Amino acid sequence: MTRPVPDYTLRRSARARNARLNIRPDGELVVTLPARAPERWATELLEARRDWVDRHRSRILAEAARLASRPALGEGRPVPLGGLAHALTVAPLPGEWRRTRVVHDDTAEPTLRVEVARDDGRTLPGILEPWLRAEARDALERRVAVRARDLGVEPRGLAVRDQRSRWGSASRRGTVSFNWRLVLTPAAVLDYVVVHELAHLREFGHGRGFWRLVRDHVPEADAARRWLRAHEPELRAALDR
Ligand SMILES: [Zn+2]
Repeated sequence: MTRPVPDYTLRRSARARNARLNIRPDGELVVTLPARAPERWATELLEARRDWVDRHRSRILAEAARLASRPALGEGRPVPLGGLAHALTVAPLPGEWRRTRVVHDDTAEPTLRVEVARDDGRTLPGILEPWLRAEARDALERRVAVRARDLGVEPRGLAVRDQRSRWGSASRRGTVSFNWRLVLTPAAVLDYVVVHELAHLREFGHGRGFWRLVRDHVPEADAARRWLRAHEPELRAALDR
């Protein structure tokens, strides 16, 4: 008995060489085909990967449901920082003239304490995101300095961004960019992404030589990649309401 091919969204990409299948966080199937490939490549791929689709889609939908049922930000939901759940507390700043601040306090239980100035009209994510971005820049600059020496490269610039679908990138001009959400991940995961992008300054593309270089410097690279894949939805939704 054959089951019908599930609904999917078709994308065309000039860079794709093969058919590629992705499941979006909301369960939507997206098939990307090379610009001129016949559409039956998409249905063939979906047939061939039927079991994989069923298994992964139900896991992704379960994760989406779990994320949707979390307490709201500021109402008891912890925020990950360095891979560790931090309790988030929000309190008004006493006085009128001081500015909102975020205090990172791990002395007892890991805590982020947001002290909001009276005239600050920003939302909680509006306060937390710039603070986390600044923390990310600090952490990434420190790690890049160490790892650039290890790899014998000299990056010409470092940018911290909010890329929708990537953790980092490297340009042929010698600059590296990173996703600020890496500050939420364990130090070993941030380190892996730093090494990955710096390694691209020596080896463009993801060939064997590239991965050998990465694994020479990060023996746990595969574990870090798995961690990122497994936690991506949670990291992307860390500051959602
Ligand atoms: Zn890469």
